[in-house]
Amino acid sequence: MDKITLVMPCYNEEEALPHTLPEVNRLMDSMPQVEFEVILVDNCSEDRTLELMRKAHEEDPRYQYISFSRNFGKDSSMYAGLSAATGDYVTIMDADLQDPTELLPEMYELLKTGEYDCVAAKRGDRAGEPFLRSVLADAFYRLINSISDYEMVSGARDFRLMTKQMVQAVISVGENVRYTKGIFSWVGFRTKWLTYGNKERVAGDTKLPMKSAINYAFRGIVAFSTVPLVLASMAGFLFCAAAFVYTLVVIIKQLLYHEAVSGYASLMSVMLFGFGLVLLVLGIIGQYLAQMYLEIKNRPKFIIRESSYSDAVK
Ligand code: UDP
Ligand code: MG
Repeated sequence: MDKITLVMPCYNEEEALPHTLPEVNRLMDSMPQVEFEVILVDNCSEDRTLELMRKAHEEDPRYQYISFSRNFGKDSSMYAGLSAATGDYVTIMDADLQDPTELLPEMYELLKTGEYDCVAAKRGDRAGEPFLRSVLADAFYRLINSISDYEMVSGARDFRLMTKQMVQAVISVGENVRYTKGIFSWVGFRTKWLTYGNKERVAGDTKLPMKSAINYAFRGIVAFSTVPLVLASMAGFLFCAAAFVYTLVVIIKQLLYHEAVSGYASLMSVMLFGFGLVLLVLGIIGQYLAQMYLEIKNRPKFIIRESSYSDAVK
C-alpha cells in the first residue's frame, strides 16, 4: 500500500483550519487505496492554531504536528515537513484551501504511471487577487525567467505531489535562505503541470503581505541568477567607456579650438550619475554578500519547540 504524506505549513490559521482539516479528512476518505500521514507545521502562531493541531493529533494519529519556536517562514516549514515525511509520495498544501484538494487523486494517478516524478499545480488566472499584486507578479516572473537558467512558472504554487526521490533531492539542497519554488525547478525531474482556476482563501487573511512578497521576489532573483552581477560590471564598463570618449572630446576641443570646458550643470549631472551608478552596483553586490553571509553562518533552518513526535524522532 502506498503512503502519501501531506505537509501543511500554518501561521495563524485558527480561522482556516476548522474548514481545512475536515476537507483533508474527506480527501483521505476518498482515497482508501493509500495510507496517509499529515504533518502540520506551526510557525509559532499567536492564535489557537497549535491547540487545533494538538486536538487533530489526539483525535486521529495520522495527524502529526511540529511547532517552531518562532515564525521561520513558510519555506522553513516546508523543509521541516519534507524532512519528517515518511511517505512514498509527498504533497505540500496551504492551510487556507487555496490549493484544490480534489486534484490530489489525479496527481497520484499520474505519478503512478511512472512517467513523472512530480505533478504540480498552477493557477490559470489570478482572479480575485489585487490588481497591483498581479501586475507585479507578472513582471517578476518575466524578469526572473529572462535572467535565470531555471524556469519559474508563473502562477505556480507550492502545491504538488512528489516522489520520495524528488523530496530527498529537495532536502539535499541545504540552503538557509530558501526560495523553494526555485529549488523545485533546480532539482529537475519530470514535472507535469495541472492548471486550475484561482481559488480564494477560505477564511482569515493572507499571511504574505505585499512587502514580504516583494522581499521574497528579490531573494529568488539573488538565489537563482547571477545576471545582476554581470549587468553591474557591464554598467561599470559602459560608464568607463563613455568617460574615456568624453575626455578625448574635451582634450581635442581644447587643443584644436582652444575651447575651455564650461558648465557646472553638465559636471554635476555626470558626477551624480556616476555616484548613483556606483552605489547601485555596490547595492547589488551587497545583496549577494548578504545572502552569502546568511548561508555561511549556517544557522538551523528552524527550531522545534513542541511536536507530536517522540523525542527520538524529533
Ligand atoms: N505561512 C506560514 N508562515 C508564514 C506565512 C505563511 O507557514 O510566515 C503559511 C500559511 O499559513 C499558509 C501558507 O503558508 O498555509 C500560504 O500563506 P498565505 O495563504 O497567507 O499566502 P498567499 O496564499 O496569500 O500567497
Ligand atoms: Mg493563501
